[in-house]
Amino acid sequence: MPDTYCRSCGVEMKAMALCIGCSKAILYACTRCEMFSDTKMHIHCLQLAIQE
Ligand SMILES: [Zn+2]
Ligand SMILES: [Zn+2]
Repeated sequence: MPDTYCRSCGVEMKAMALCIGCSKAILYACTRCEMFSDTKMHIHCLQLAIQE
């Protein structure tokens, strides 16, 4: 299970940015307290995108 729940208020977080390689969410934001998650960049996806 991905960590998509806010650590401070427990609300499910909303995807704010998608990986350019696999289109999975890499950045989440809480809709209640507006806290952002850490961006989880997929290094392997970025490298693939750059090579193409
Ligand atoms: Zn990816
Ligand atoms: Zn929150």
